[in-house]
Amino acid sequence: MFPFLLLILLSLSWRISASAQPAEEFLRCLSLRFHNSSSIAKLVYTYHNSSYSSVLKSSAQNFRFTTPSTPTPLAIVTPFHASHIQATVYCCRKHGLQVRTRSGGHDFEGLSYTTAYKVPFVVIDLVNLRSVQVNVEKATAWVESGATVGELYYEIARKTRTLAFPAGIGHTVGIGGQLSGGGLGSLFRKYGLASDNVIDARLIDAYGRILDKKSMGEDLFWAIRGGGGGSFGIVLAWKLKLVPVPANVTACTVSKTLEQNAAKLVHQWQSIARKFPKEIQSSIAIARVNSSEDGKMTIQASYGSVFLGSIDELIPLMEEKFPELGLVKEDCLEMSWAESILYGALSIIGLPLETLLNRTQKSALSQTFFKAKSDFVKQPISESGFEGLWPKFYEDEAKSAVMVLVAYGGKMDEIPETEYPYPHRAGNLYSILYVVNWEEEENKNSEKFMNWMRRVYSYMTPYVSKSPREAYVNYRDLDIGTNKFNHDKGSYTEAKVWGLKYFKNNFDKLAYVKTKVDPQNFFKHEQSIPPLF
Ligand SMILES: Cc1cc2nc3c(=O)[nH]c(=O)nc-3n(C[C@H](O)[C@H](O)[C@H](O)COP(=O)(O)OP(=O)(O)OC[C@H]3O[C@@H](n4cnc5c(N)ncnc54)[C@H](O)[C@@H]3O)c2cc1C
Repeated sequence: MFPFLLLILLSLSWRISASAQPAEEFLRCLSLRFHNSSSIAKLVYTYHNSSYSSVLKSSAQNFRFTTPSTPTPLAIVTPFHASHIQATVYCCRKHGLQVRTRSGGHDFEGLSYTTAYKVPFVVIDLVNLRSVQVNVEKATAWVESGATVGELYYEIARKTRTLAFPAGIGHTVGIGGQLSGGGLGSLFRKYGLASDNVIDARLIDAYGRILDKKSMGEDLFWAIRGGGGGSFGIVLAWKLKLVPVPANVTACTVSKTLEQNAAKLVHQWQSIARKFPKEIQSSIAIARVNSSEDGKMTIQASYGSVFLGSIDELIPLMEEKFPELGLVKEDCLEMSWAESILYGALSIIGLPLETLLNRTQKSALSQTFFKAKSDFVKQPISESGFEGLWPKFYEDEAKSAVMVLVAYGGKMDEIPETEYPYPHRAGNLYSILYVVNWEEEENKNSEKFMNWMRRVYSYMTPYVSKSPREAYVNYRDLDIGTNKFNHDKGSYTEAKVWGLKYFKNNFDKLAYVKTKVDPQNFFKHEQSIPPLF
């Protein structure tokens, strides 16, 4: 046994440069902890492994963090079993290495696979832990963190058309990251966020223990359902409450340009949409397009909605609630709820449900270089406020920029702010997601695009939430503040700057929970919850 183990170690360590001492020690430690030491070669990738780079980039969605200057991990561990994670946590602690947990790799700032701190770190990539078990009779599911939202939807859809789960629309997103920070999709006005519908979980804590809802206690169970990923431990799996949906839902899209009165429509939508029945999810995507007049640009507002009912029920409802939109049958299609996810994400009808299993998909937020930010709006923005925004979309940098407004209200108004860490509940008209993206050849000028985004954000200041200017933790934005480089102690006050924006007064409780469960701040990153002292 021992010579075999040594052989594996040597074969791994030849790949590590002489200066990579921590990596060698880490690997030696792992080989002693893994029950089957031969699995190291299958599960662990280091710099000199030929697959290292492709494994690292495999689920990285923001190409800003896949360039040669991006700090990379000493090792990537791809566990097949919880014990592999326990061993990795143990060895990282022992050798003073930071851990980054990656489920789907969609973190906007790449925090699951890189760090701005230039410290040695190890990525635990949960891609091999992705089983989904759906129980239709009980309307529950157990899903491992490495599964994608799409894999979950697919497994539900394979069994029934009349159950669903209220997670996001982006089907390539990982369960682990999304449920850790919220999860907002086409059912949230009816049933709340994905994290509001978690009924149990299995987590590995900073000491390597596996805890469930009962053994982790109320406070930690509260914190992991929306307090942001990478702060409290590694969630292995989640038990979900599935929700009823009709066999057919109705998805509609209507696009209007400024010449077709888009500005007025957006202005009216702001105060109307939050009062729609809970069964209607409604959003508006704003981007620039070529105008019908040669060589000119205009702004297009694309209204999209998913209604839990039929076209025949929806049309009279919209005639009553929002006649100015002029929604007609031809703007809408009936389909299963799972199909509506693909339609919402890709705007294509009739794709096979297997498309939900694709783990990569190019979009404004994936497989591209991008910067994104978020806001919450409490008072309607004036027409002149919007008019001042349009010229920014005509600037060069905004050729692929988009701004998505998502109506709140419904169930979100009913859940108290402190019930879960996600605090953006009653009082919001809508949220905004801003995205600007660019191509590889433009990346040498990335600052130009980043600055465009910051200018837009600055322009929006008077129109959005204040004190704090709220933000959604799953739309990670390091511009709003980061922890200090070596933030083991004394960073609570500093972290409050960004913490209040993501969590409002729940930030204090999150820091309290962190102090209880991980006082030495083992799980940390640029925006992790710090202990109180
Ligand atoms: C293309 C795209 C579409 C999106 N669509 C939506 C949407 O419709 N609705 C919505 O609400 N959001 C959406 N998002 C945002 C998305 O929810 C967040 O980026 C989410 O955190 C990503 O989860 P992940 O597992 O893919 O990412 P990762 O990068 O793997 O993880 C994100 C964060 O969570 C931590 N983490 C990951 N796994 C675990 C775990 N098992 N235990 C503890 N911490 C963990 C990571 O360390 C990191 O800090 C979208 C993002 C993209 C890029």
